[in-house]
This record gives sequence, C-alpha cells and structure tokens, in this order.
Amino acid sequence: KKSNQELLNQQEKRESNARSYPRSFPLAIKEAEGIYITDVEGNSYIDCLAGAGTLALGHNHPIVIEAMEKVLHDRLPLHTLDITTEVKESFVDELFSSLPEGFRERAKIQFCGPTGGDAIEAALKLAKTATGRQSILTFQGGYHGATHGTMSISGNLAPKKRVQGLVPDTHFLPYPYDYRCPFGKGGKEGAELSAMYIEQLLDDPESGILPPAAMIFETVQGEGGAIPAPIEWLKEMRRITKERGIPLIIDEVQTGIGRTGELFSFEHAGIVPDAFVLSKAIGGSLPLSVVVYDRELDAWEPGAHIGTFRGNQMAMAAGNATLKYVKEHQLSKHAEAMGDIFTQALTKMQNHYPQIGDVRGRGLMIGVEIVDPSGKPSVRGSYPANPELTSRIQRECFDRGLILEDGGRYGAVLRFLPPLIITEKQVDEILSIFHDALAAAVS
Ligand code: PMP
Repeated sequence: KKSNQELLNQQEKRESNARSYPRSFPLAIKEAEGIYITDVEGNSYIDCLAGAGTLALGHNHPIVIEAMEKVLHDRLPLHTLDITTEVKESFVDELFSSLPEGFRERAKIQFCGPTGGDAIEAALKLAKTATGRQSILTFQGGYHGATHGTMSISGNLAPKKRVQGLVPDTHFLPYPYDYRCPFGKGGKEGAELSAMYIEQLLDDPESGILPPAAMIFETVQGEGGAIPAPIEWLKEMRRITKERGIPLIIDEVQTGIGRTGELFSFEHAGIVPDAFVLSKAIGGSLPLSVVVYDRELDAWEPGAHIGTFRGNQMAMAAGNATLKYVKEHQLSKHAEAMGDIFTQALTKMQNHYPQIGDVRGRGLMIGVEIVDPSGKPSVRGSYPANPELTSRIQRECFDRGLILEDGGRYGAVLRFLPPLIITEKQVDEILSIFHDALAAAVS
C-alpha cells in the first residue's frame, strides 16, 4: 500500500508540469461518496470543488450508478459515433423537455467531444459558419477552456503568455465585475452604463470591431472568481445582440443544470440565447458536452463538424438520470436556498474580517475575494487582491478536511462549488471549518 506522498511523488515524476490541483491539494484519492472523499491513508475531506462544478449529485449517487449499471447489464453499445440509440434519444427527450417553451420547438443539438472546451469550439464554428463573419466579442475575466480557440477567447493571460498566434479578431469587453469594475454597479444603472459603452463600441467604426460572428459570456464567471452578472445586464446584452443580429452564445458549462438556482442560468433573466453550451454536470460525472442552438443558426452541411467521441453513451445515461433527479427534487431551488445560507454567513464573517473584500454568488457558485486591507484602495474603494493569504486560507481549510477551489483574475477568490445535494447541516460544517481556517490564516 502506498502513502499519499509516495503516490504524489510518482505523479510528480511522470506527469507534465501543467498539473494544477495537486499543488493545492496534496492527496491521493481512494474513495468518494456524496460530498466526501477519502484519501489512501483514510483521511476524509469535504469536496467543495466537486470536479470543478461537475458533480451535481455528488460522488457515486445511487441514481447515477444505477443508470450506468443498466447500460452495462443490458450490454448496450458503449460507443456508436453519432449513430443514434435509444439511450441517446431518451437523453435528448429529457434535455429538450427542460428547455424554455418557445425555444424547445426551435432547438437543435450538436454532440461534441468530451469536454466543455470542445463544445465552445463547436459553438464558435457554428456562429462563424452561420454569419460568414469572424470577429468574436468576449469578456475580460471569462473562462471558456484550454484549447487553442477557447484559450484565445478567455480572459486569463497566464496560459497565453508563451503561445503565439491566438485567434485573431477577438475583442474583450468589460464584464460587470461589481467589486472592481466601474460598470458593475450591480443594478439597472450599471447595466445601462455598460450596455451604452458596448453599443458605442459596436456602432463606432473607429473601435475597429467588424460585425461580430458572436458574443459569448458566462452569466456567472466561474474560474474568473464566481462573479454574477447583474440580471439587468444580461437582459441588456440580449437586447444589444438581438438588435444588431449578433448570435449570443451563453457558456453554461459551469452554471448549467441547476447550480445557480435555475436549471439554465439564463432563465434568471428571462432571456434565451441563440446557442448555449453544456458540459460538466450534464454528463452526470462522465465526460459529455453539447451545444443547444436555435435552428436558424444551423448552416452546417453534413460533415461540417465531426469527431470520434461525440456523445458517450454511458455519459448520456448518467446525464439523463442526473437531469431527471435535479428536476424531480427541485435541486435548483435547493441550490438557491443553500447558496443563501452560505452568502449570509460569509457576509457576517466579512464584518469581523476586513480581509474578506467581497462575498458574492448566485446559487451554489459562491466566491469570497480576499484582500489586503492595509493596501491602497483602487476602483470603487476595493482593496488590493491578496493571493498569498488566499492560498494560506485554502491550505488551512485543506488541513481541516475541506477542499475549496481558488480562482479569480488575481488568484484571490476562494470558491464554494459543492454538489447540489448538500444539506444545511453540511453547509454549517463547511462554514465552521472555513471560519477556523480563516482565523488561523490571518493570525
Ligand atoms: N467554460 C466554463 C465556464 C468552464 O468553467 C470550463 C471549465 N472550467 C470550460 C468552459 C472548459 O471546460 P473543459 O475544461 O471541460 O474543457
């Protein structure tokens, strides 16, 4: 039997230097159940990372296991390219029946490679094909993947630093990052201000923005630091894109399937995009990604988008079971309620700890931005980001058995991203550990 350290040493020796999570969480996982994981030495942890938001029902939910076992038991095909099966049609039935009325009738679906990034690539290709245009409007702080194209339209600079020749004609617009962005006033006023600025850019040829093939954003920036865009802003972006005939793509890879308090996060704003992308939770913990889009965009000819692994049968079965469970048990509403408990308690902690600069989120996508209150306040009175203290708190949490994701533009946001099935008691347990870790880290 090998120890955590021995397995970590093996990994260090054999895997690429691009590893990220093992640096923050030095463990080797043996088992996992619900919101808990156990390492090879028998230590237990609460998993508030949940596969970066993938595990809506936690680890090894009986419903998901049952769906997968049925595929195996019935000897159903595990791989069929894009030739259809009963498993696939049943998955699409469930997904389409979940779409907002009006869109449901117009919707088409493209199965993509296994990752979120694959489906974002497909959505961009689709928009470019449909419009015959090439420029892309995207947002500062956004994250859409690590492939060449998705990296090009993502905000974070670190992965791009040593890569030449990113996708040209990509325009980064300001995201309404309430805490640090002057456009992010949270309500109608900020949304209107930001919309006015974006309209001005789009309508003035001096901005150099050619008619865009698409606008793409997350309604809550995940990796960017759990930043929810104000609902009014989302409505404004829909209006602006509609008026100018710009396809709007919403990246629901992390927000989708109930996490924010609605099944699809765009539903908070009562808007419907021209296309949206699902991955992570839609595969019920297995790899799957799709683009769902308005059939008006369907300019593709047969073979225009191909790939070997377009829809994994087992993932469709697991995803179908997950989607049904989320709907039947109203886990969206539950996520909203649990999210409120988190944000209220964290906001209370903020009153005692000036190192907590901001508490924000929507549903179970919650961020705590850690700052240096002795520093010089910048835009709108926000203190400088404090990535060192953020790592210290993260480490103190880990030592107390809590796995918390970090993120944000400055690496100074701690993110609570637990499975949606989390109970109130478990939320309290997490908050208590976090509080102890915070106190230890600042002392
Ligand atoms: N979009 C968003 C919003 C994401 O959070 C992620 C992954 N964190 C991606 C796209 C990319 O997904 P993948 O890592 O599966 O390519």
